[in-house]
Parts: sequence; structure tokens; C-alpha cells
Amino acid sequence: MTQADFLPVKVALKKVLDLVPPLPAVSVPLSQASGYILAEDVVAHDSLPPFDNSGMDGYALKAADTSGANPRNPVSLKVVGEVAAGFLFTGEIRRGQAVRIMTGAPIPKGADAVIRIEDTGENYQDSQRPLPDLVSIKAEVGPANAIRYAGSDLREGQRILNKGRKIRPQEVGVLASLGVAQVPVIKRPKVGILATGDELIPVEEPLVPGKIRNSNGYAQAAQIEALGADVVRLGVAKDTPEDLRSKLQAGIEAGVDLFISSAGVSVGVYDVVTDVLQTDGEINFWKVRMRPGKPLAAGHYAGIPYLGLPGNPVSAMVSFERFARPAILKMAGHTNLERPLREVVFREPMRSDGRETYVRAMIRREPDGTLSAISTGDQGSHVMTSLVKANGLVIIPEGTTEIAPDTKLQALMTDWPNELF
Ligand code: AMP
Ligand code: MG
Repeated sequence: MTQADFLPVKVALKKVLDLVPPLPAVSVPLSQASGYILAEDVVAHDSLPPFDNSGMDGYALKAADTSGANPRNPVSLKVVGEVAAGFLFTGEIRRGQAVRIMTGAPIPKGADAVIRIEDTGENYQDSQRPLPDLVSIKAEVGPANAIRYAGSDLREGQRILNKGRKIRPQEVGVLASLGVAQVPVIKRPKVGILATGDELIPVEEPLVPGKIRNSNGYAQAAQIEALGADVVRLGVAKDTPEDLRSKLQAGIEAGVDLFISSAGVSVGVYDVVTDVLQTDGEINFWKVRMRPGKPLAAGHYAGIPYLGLPGNPVSAMVSFERFARPAILKMAGHTNLERPLREVVFREPMRSDGRETYVRAMIRREPDGTLSAISTGDQGSHVMTSLVKANGLVIIPEGTTEIAPDTKLQALMTDWPNELF
């Protein structure tokens, strides 16, 4: 059994990140690709737009034929056809001719411009209007007017998205335009979530003396889902080696990529959790110089990365923020693993014990544009209400034991922008 190591947050975070590799690439249908990280560069196999097309409802024509046209002196052109989006005009436009055209329709051969319907004599308010024999042109347009040329968005052969890019709705749209039906992405992490402790009962059950509800299991599952990872709920393990082993076995069978447990890692009381993890796996128990969230276990169980968070609900959530969140993002292929950090003016005096302290805080923007923060109340590691009121965590650096009001500090912007109250 190892003596717990004392680690600064940064060192513990590096050790945690070293435990987890980015997951392998898989191919997913485009309809499911949103939120994944691209595993390969995407090269365009088509140009976009794929053909020259009209940017307006109007008339395709030769720009030279509009020369000198104005509302008092319109030019009359012969209408030789019509082309709607999705169809082709098979003829060719000659001098003095025009083709009625809809937005997105291919530019007919011979045309070098489009004039919008509003600049013609046609009554565009009438949606049923028949195709006229002649159209009067009431404005002059130059060549290329209202034409969207093939390749003006992107050209065939161009690398359009880089590996490592998060697929947002707009990336989904581009991939669809390019006909990428299957997308190479990094596998979505499957995280097994386990609570431990004889005192825990399921949320559905009434409270009985001595018992509390398993809040961590739900909170961590929600934290995992917020990252776009999959949760495997392994329930509550009693403080017996058999029960813990069987719950972990269920995770192995479900194919989890990472275990996250809560509780049972407080050093001093070497309970069954610690014994099982160390006997069957390679787990280190650390005391991180952090508040809340001092105890942390990290290593491998049956070859699967394992993170053991503290049991106190706030400690568990803050440790998740600091260690599990970056680890899961790394596994999912993200390169930016950190929440935004912002400078805030912390309005209150505060004491700390010298550990890196994460103060649950309400951050808001002042009229002068600066951010200010106040604590949201009791900072006890079991006090969930102050976490519920918070939209960020203000960090008192390691080694600082006292701060005066209006000290500038960094804040982890966990829910920004979100001025809750
Ligand atoms: P431990 O790390 O086992 O000493 O637990 C520390 C504290 O966290 C104790 O007060 C536990 O009752 C509490 N705790 C542990 N697990 C959970 C959980 N899943 N939900 C809510 N509280 C918990
Ligand atoms: Mg316990």
C-alpha cells in the first residue's frame, strides 16, 4: 500500500492526462457526427457551389444588353425560356434575349449576369405570373452580377477541415454539401460511473436514518454527458470487495474506456475500495493541494484508466472539473482541454489554508466591462447549494492564505455567460 503523495494541482493534472490516450478513430454516419472530433483532414471532392448559379430570382442575360437601362428608359429583351432550381436550361442566350431564372438555378449558356426581378417590369408580387414574351429591364448590371460561381465557396481538392476540429452544426452542413456520408472521427468515450459507500441509497427510495441518496452518481453522469461522452451507469458498490469487483466487472463487460468512481479515496481510512483497486489494478492515491477535492485516486483497473474522485459532493464535482473533464476531452480527441480562465475582481476578503482553492462564485460583468465576483456562500465541501448558485470557480492560488477585498484573481468560467440571478 502506497503512502499518499502530496501533489500540486498542475502536477496531478499532468499525471491524469498521461493516463489517458486519445481514443482510436471510427467512422460514423454524418447524421450522428455532430459533437465528435474529426480524426482526419477533410479534402473537398467537389467544388462548392458545384456549378455557376443565380443568387437572385430574376433574369439571366448578357450584361451588355442592359447598357443605359433605367426606370424611365427600360430596355426590352425577348424571354426565351425559364429555369428553376434543380433544372437546366438547355439552349443558349443570344444578344437581346433573357431567361427567367430562380435562385440556385444554373446560369444558362451565353448569360454573364443576372438582374433581380425587382429591376424588371415584371410584377414580382404575383407568384402565379405567366412567362412573358418580353421583359423590360430597368437597371444596368455589370458582368457577374448576382452570379455565384462554381468553386467560389471552396474548390475541389482544397483541404477544408483539419483533423482535430470539433464538428459543429456548420461543419455538418459543409460535410453534407461535400457528400461525406461517413465521417472519420475519434471514438466517443464511454465512461463507467460508480458510486461507493454503504450509506448510499438510490434516488427513488425514501430516506432512512443513516442513509443518504447517491447524488454523485447522477451529478457525474450529467457532467460526462455535458461533454458529449457516453455514460455507463454502474450504480452503487457497497463497501465490500465482492460488490465493488462485480460492479467494475460490469463496466469491463460494457466496454468502458474510463472508470470514474466517487468516495472511498480519503487516505487514512484504508477501506475495501482502496484494497481492491490496489490489488487488482495499479492505482495511486494522492492528496492534491486543492480545496475542495484533496483526495484523488488515479491509475488503471484491468488495463482501463481509472479516476477515483472524492466522496463529498462538491469535492467530487470540482475534482471532475479539474481532472476528469480534461481527461475525457483528451480521450475524445480535443486539443483545448481547459475551460476559459478570466480575470475577475473578487469583492470579498477570504482566507484559505494555502491549498489551491476553488471558490464557488457568482461572476458578473460590470458596466465598465470588467468581471467581478462574490462567493455564493458556505464553501463546505458538502454544501451543494453554493455550487448551485455559482456560475464559476474563482481560484485562490496555492500558497496564498489571505486575500483582501477587490483582489484580482483568475476564475474558471464553468457556466459563462450565465448570470443566474
Ligand atoms: P468518503 O470518501 O467515502 O469518505 O465519503 C466522503 C463523504 O462523501 C461522506 O460524507 C459520504 O457520505 C459522501 N458521499 C460519498 N459518496 C457519495 C455519493 N455518491 N453521493 C453523495 N454523497 C456521497
Ligand atoms: Mg465511503
